[in-house]
Amino acid sequence: MAPMTVAQMGAKIATGDRRALARAITLIESSRPDHRTQALDLLADVTGAGRQALRIGLSGTPGVGKSTFIESFGLMLTGQGLRVAVLAVDPSSARSGGSILGDKTRMERLSRDPLAFIRPSPSQTHLGGVARRTREAVSLCEAAGFDVILIETVGVGQSETLVAEMVDLFVLLMAPAGGDELQGVKRGIMEMADLILVNKADGDLRAAAMRTVADYAGALHLLRKRPYDPPKFPKALPVSAIEQAGMEAAWADMQALAQWRRDQGHFVRRRAEQARHWFETEVREGLLAQLTADPDLRAKMADLGAQVAEGRAAPTAAAAEVLSVLPKLS
Ligand code: GDP
Repeated sequence: MAPMTVAQMGAKIATGDRRALARAITLIESSRPDHRTQALDLLADVTGAGRQALRIGLSGTPGVGKSTFIESFGLMLTGQGLRVAVLAVDPSSARSGGSILGDKTRMERLSRDPLAFIRPSPSQTHLGGVARRTREAVSLCEAAGFDVILIETVGVGQSETLVAEMVDLFVLLMAPAGGDELQGVKRGIMEMADLILVNKADGDLRAAAMRTVADYAGALHLLRKRPYDPPKFPKALPVSAIEQAGMEAAWADMQALAQWRRDQGHFVRRRAEQARHWFETEVREGLLAQLTADPDLRAKMADLGAQVAEGRAAPTAAAAEVLSVLPKLS
């Protein structure tokens, strides 16, 4: 690969060049210190370009139809001339090193569409690393002029919370179920959802899907009304990713919700809160990384951790002992 300066890369990304975007994401995924420096320069370069995409989080358990839905929904959007980026936050990649999400072979037609860009989840050692890379990739995709950014994640809890903190809308994809199965959805996840799409509303599963939609609509209705929701939201809708049915209706609701939040000022406020949250997370994690980079201190933390676990030391006092190595800033 011919070397490209950060400025050249930034300029190419601004023209919407997908290869430059892919290379830039590879750069931000690298943990090499010199790459990190370049990545930060690049991000500074593209920040504030004023381009804004609609960021949509999409979650659901394996097998519910996420990749089929993204293919179907994405093609509907590109059919309208919109540019769509698909990113993934895959908690399993942190453990296995492999990725089950955002895999191009799972979205074959969309991956060939010139208006689409698909990037699988990176294999990182921890979810925090995947989250950082995804946030940074979102900024790059916005700079590249994408209209919609879909962030796919798998429904297991922690990764959903991370994704919810980087998107404008959160969509939960569910399968048709019996009434008793509905209980299995964690309340916290329901509370995050702006839209619940019950997939596979086709063929033999259609009747069950319609009942499930009614069950979720009832459950959502019981949740406390959120200040950033217009009437009738959060909502449950039936879709069939395979038959490409319900895609327009789902998109119309997403747009209506986003527009309402823009008009009410919630959209901008939420993004500001999210940016602040990620800034504070970076400071906290950066501090911890600096502390644990020192082998002596790392050993000391392990020792104090064991003492705390055994009840021989108090957590606050042990933490104060670790933090005492920091220079006093005032
Ligand atoms: P993911 O693991 O959530 O990404 O799920 P996939 O998109 O790989 O789909 C899992 C299975 O469900 C596949 O066999 C799909 O063909 C099937 N599937 C996905 N969407 C639909 C749908 O709308 N209707 C029906 N009947 N099956 C679907």
